[in-house]
Amino acid sequence: MTSESYDVVVVGAGNAAFSAAHAAREEGSTVCVLEKAPEAELGGNSYFTLGSFRTTYDGLADVMCIVDDPGDVSTDTHELPSYTKDDFAADMRRVTKGRTDEQLTRVLVENSFTTLQWLHRHGIKFKLQSDNQVFEVNGKKRFWGGGTIAVVGGGIGLIEQHLSAAKNSGIVVKTEHRMVGFQQGPTGEVSGVVCQTPSGQKVIEGKSVVLASGGFEADARLRATYLGPGWETARVRGSRYNTGEALMAALDYGAQSFGNWSGAHAVAWDKNAGVFGNRVLTNKLQRHSYPFGIMVNTDGRRFIDEASDFRNYTYAMVGAAILRQPGGVAFQIFDKQGSGMLRTDYGHEGITRVTADSIKDLAEKMEVDPDALCATIDEFNAGVQETPFDPTVLDGKRTVGVNPPKSNWARKIIEPPFIAFPTVCAITFTYGGLRVDTDARVLDQRDQPVPGLHAAGEVVGGLFYENYPGGSGLMSGAVFGYRAGKSAAAYSKSR
Ligand SMILES: Cc1cc2nc3c(=O)[nH]c(=O)nc-3n(C[C@H](O)[C@H](O)[C@H](O)COP(=O)(O)OP(=O)(O)OC[C@H]3O[C@@H](n4cnc5c(N)ncnc54)[C@H](O)[C@@H]3O)c2cc1C
Repeated sequence: MTSESYDVVVVGAGNAAFSAAHAAREEGSTVCVLEKAPEAELGGNSYFTLGSFRTTYDGLADVMCIVDDPGDVSTDTHELPSYTKDDFAADMRRVTKGRTDEQLTRVLVENSFTTLQWLHRHGIKFKLQSDNQVFEVNGKKRFWGGGTIAVVGGGIGLIEQHLSAAKNSGIVVKTEHRMVGFQQGPTGEVSGVVCQTPSGQKVIEGKSVVLASGGFEADARLRATYLGPGWETARVRGSRYNTGEALMAALDYGAQSFGNWSGAHAVAWDKNAGVFGNRVLTNKLQRHSYPFGIMVNTDGRRFIDEASDFRNYTYAMVGAAILRQPGGVAFQIFDKQGSGMLRTDYGHEGITRVTADSIKDLAEKMEVDPDALCATIDEFNAGVQETPFDPTVLDGKRTVGVNPPKSNWARKIIEPPFIAFPTVCAITFTYGGLRVDTDARVLDQRDQPVPGLHAAGEVVGGLFYENYPGGSGLMSGAVFGYRAGKSAAAYSKSR
């Protein structure tokens, strides 16, 4: 077996991995990034994202210092309410029903904005999400739901910018290097990794190692094993390479498992999408505008409160609700008024949809019993309360006497044309992973650091349970990637 040697070896080439690599390289470490995928498929799930980062800020003027592309946004036309550390922490606690690890959440929240400033110094370019995260009310455009900042060029831009920064600073990136195990040093420390490559097995020695290899969402068997029956049928929104073997190798090495192993982030997704993510359409196959319509299953029945909260705080649970429906299929239905609220993703070429001028005709095109769908929509319309509609707040415009209720933004579905989008469940990433401390050192089963091993991104557990606030995945990958890189550099210097 051939071998090479670096101060810090990083496993994976997504956002968490590159964040760790930049942080270690800044300390003068030699750094090698090992990626399982071929070069043409580099970037992990991070490539498929919108590039949205959830961060704290104190209004529009505050964020402008990192914004390269403000688009049409100005203080005259737009309002951006503050999003404080307390707000971010409260959202983490609320969506996870109080289960998120308090220490990890504190680190995530308190370092979110400074980490974006740091990424910005490394050449990551940011913009304001003035398309899908703004609604106009009373002549003023208002950001809602904490999803304000995204990377210029989305996930594709994020990976291009990370790669260019890595190249400029002398970080070595090797593709088609699938980590299959660890090399152990004389005192039990991690001293490198074993990789499968097209030319056979190689040891890449590292004085310290950072795992940033994502979750196990792309492996059907692991999905069924940990998430439960039926999950093997879910589509995968992103990379086909996040199959969990590096995570499992770390557990075998003595790392502690942590977090919501039976939970996953999963969304409503175009029914005709492929089994794995599409590198051209990336996130455009998602169907996130359900709060402004209704969702029904193939029996023509509603099964969820479409508007219990802003979509940024519900979309990660919708996939699981769809998976539980007959055949794992659900339709999102909008009338003319609701169609005016659709995200830009719904307008792309090749998107699966049916339209009709009556609910009965729509049902026939959906191959759903027309009587059942008409009854559902009549009952829904009869329950809608005629109070003011405001998409920038939880407006309480709800249904009464309808089960399940719709708690906000409920408007009657009456005006043609009617449009239905067939959707299935697509998994984004798994919530269970390794236990790390606040310096991103992997802990063993006695809560002691596994010498030489660090981790960041979706391979780490403990932050998200059952649900997730949109934009937190990239943010946690960057915050803990930075800390993993710094810890790994410090450890390698100590040896
Ligand atoms: C369609 C889509 C849209 C999304 N939009 C957003 C968004 O806008 N904002 C947000 O915060 N989050 C978003 N997410 C979630 C986001 O992708 C993740 O939170 C984040 O990218 C995880 O980063 P990571 O670096 O941990 O993992 P990844 O980016 O998935 O990187 C893991 C890497 O490890 C590699 N790897 C795996 N096993 C091995 C091995 N054995 N050896 C070597 N390499 C290995 C993989 O090939 C991969 O490149 C989205 C996800 C998807 C799929």
